[in-house]
Amino acid sequence: MKQLFRNRLALSALLSAAIITGACAPYAAIKSRISPAPAVSGDNPFLVESTLPYHAPRFDLIRNEHYQPALEEGMRQQLAEIDAIAKQLQAPTFDNTIVPMEKSGALLTRTAKTFFGVIGANTNDTLQKVQEFEAPKLAAHNDAIYLNDQLYRRVKGVYDQRNASNLPDEQKALIERYNRDFVRAGATLSEADKIRMRSLNQELSKLSTDFSNKLLAGTKVGALVVDNVSQLDGLSEDEIKTAADAAKQRGLTGKWVLPLRNTTQQPAQAELKNRAVRQKLFEQSTLRTSRSDSNDTRSTIRRMAELRAEKAQLLGYPTWAAYVLANQGAKTPENAIKLLTDLVPPATARAHAEAADMQKLIDTQGGGFKLQPWDWQYYSEQVRKAKYDLDESQIMPYFEFNSVLENGVFYAANKLYGITFKERHDIPVYHPDVRTFEVFDADGSPLALIYFDYFKRDNKSGGAWMDQFVDQSRLTGWKPVVYNVANFTKPAAGQPALLTYDDVTTMFHEFGHGLHGMFSRVGYPTLSGTNVPRDFVEFPSQFNEHWALEPTVFANYAKHYQTGAPIPSALVDKIKQSRTFNQGFSMTELMAASLLDFAWHTLPAGAAPGDVDSFEAASLKRFNVAVPEVPPRYHSTYFSHIWDGGYSAGYYAYTWSEVLDDDAFAWFTEHGGLTRANGSRFRDMILSRGGTVDAATLYRNFRGRDPNVDALLEERGLKGGDSSVK
Ligand SMILES: [Zn+2]
Repeated sequence: MKQLFRNRLALSALLSAAIITGACAPYAAIKSRISPAPAVSGDNPFLVESTLPYHAPRFDLIRNEHYQPALEEGMRQQLAEIDAIAKQLQAPTFDNTIVPMEKSGALLTRTAKTFFGVIGANTNDTLQKVQEFEAPKLAAHNDAIYLNDQLYRRVKGVYDQRNASNLPDEQKALIERYNRDFVRAGATLSEADKIRMRSLNQELSKLSTDFSNKLLAGTKVGALVVDNVSQLDGLSEDEIKTAADAAKQRGLTGKWVLPLRNTTQQPAQAELKNRAVRQKLFEQSTLRTSRSDSNDTRSTIRRMAELRAEKAQLLGYPTWAAYVLANQGAKTPENAIKLLTDLVPPATARAHAEAADMQKLIDTQGGGFKLQPWDWQYYSEQVRKAKYDLDESQIMPYFEFNSVLENGVFYAANKLYGITFKERHDIPVYHPDVRTFEVFDADGSPLALIYFDYFKRDNKSGGAWMDQFVDQSRLTGWKPVVYNVANFTKPAAGQPALLTYDDVTTMFHEFGHGLHGMFSRVGYPTLSGTNVPRDFVEFPSQFNEHWALEPTVFANYAKHYQTGAPIPSALVDKIKQSRTFNQGFSMTELMAASLLDFAWHTLPAGAAPGDVDSFEAASLKRFNVAVPEVPPRYHSTYFSHIWDGGYSAGYYAYTWSEVLDDDAFAWFTEHGGLTRANGSRFRDMILSRGGTVDAATLYRNFRGRDPNVDALLEERGLKGGDSSVK
């Protein structure tokens, strides 16, 4: 299962992801209460560069009220810097135009990176209001830079001479990136079209913030509340205790609460014996943002699809997807859709076979009903137990959080790359659950700082992601400050955190993004670390997942949390054998969501559907991925990746990157697996390069050829002829 990665990295990406208009009455009311921003005061901690190690954010000093004035002062300062660059009289050069732009906006970058980090992982009402108020301003700020004619003429001037001057390849790549970003933002549009573009960006930015806030509220309200503990029959004692704790925190002492995960399917469905409770939980999940209440997102996403199509048309593209994919590895929506639709027949054939297996079980037990989506997890878990004699509760005692982190994730990174870790208790954090580690290179020199914020909170967005507070670059001389966030179930007080295998995979995944950020060794922030095409960015993270099951790594972390006994080899065999289990379901829900993303984003301008629910149903049917028992991993109304997570027309990237990660791991297998030599080669040729070299070229240099889909089909157990569940 793949996790979400919020790409809010380069400031430009961050700003264009946070776009929007302010003409909506309720928002005007909210704004009037908090605007205008007070002038920035001298004790605002953002005003000076952090003096902490690695320029880490001053969470010891930062208060809610510091963000808004610092954002506004940051925008003001950057505009003044940009204005000075644009108005120079000397002919444009790399050094007098591109370099100062890379250096501009230090205060804004510092503030915005911290702000969006905290908004995602630890938000509150005040910060949400600041976001609602500032998001359109940030979008306008972005436009003020990218639609500045005078500035673009200078960028274009540098771009036109890039081959005449004897510039290093990285500088050439940076110039090309700048020119492309300006053109894609609308720098070459007529004045009238630029005005329209600004207004589209304003409205989109407002809608995106709207979506985030509705989804967070809808997810919180959607939690399943249970009055009688017997309704939770099937959950473990610890899980019931956790549900009671969650209720207490909400002021519902004496009840039990199961908070919603971001996905359609909820983990508790695998265990809940009461079918009506399973159904209720499923409905709470799927209807969280479509109940015609204040958290309903349907009109928001309809309008967003409409505006994105119009924006693409303005920029000369037939659809939003065509616009987005033009600078991705896939190049066109057709190429990406082909990869997905090629995988649909083996995936759905397997899903139908899996469903038939479960129906048989239901019938044998005299159930007397037809398998429904809320039954899938429950019966697939039973089939898994019967077939592999394996259930989640058997393996979880071997996946204790600290052991997985230090003896698994860190251990694998040490064996491959030689890096070591030391926990730092002196670096301030934004919440007591956050842990901080300093990372050292093989020669003992300091490399990076990484924060882990792994447990679920009601004020944290769903899913898991990685991002950075500080980007590496030689220009600034700074080392990376990286964070990983997830939503693992927080254990009841005093209990150890025992993870599911899926959680374990998530830790390796997000840490893989972390390595991509931490190993960056580039000259300029815009090309740093994970600033690569979206359909390449999931490659290092998904690649790192492969080490979770590597025998020496696995043996090192999978130990019983009470006895320290190694995981029995019989259990290991069962886990390995069951790896391709339920892949029909996993692949089908993934393809359904990926194709739904394209259904929305291949609409031409002016063609927004009247009704969200029927458009979704018709789209799934059109792509032959409408399997009633296997709903999409996310329905449109709570598909955060594509509405506020920066993955619009980009959810396919997980699958596109999977082709790469499985193919690259096959290279490791062919060359001796987990060795320092192999790790160094991967680090040098992929992980340290950021966006300095075209992604397809990077891959080809590493692999010696272009990727192919064989390893993926093998890994998923979907290779031809083997599409029935035995
Ligand atoms: Zn990811």
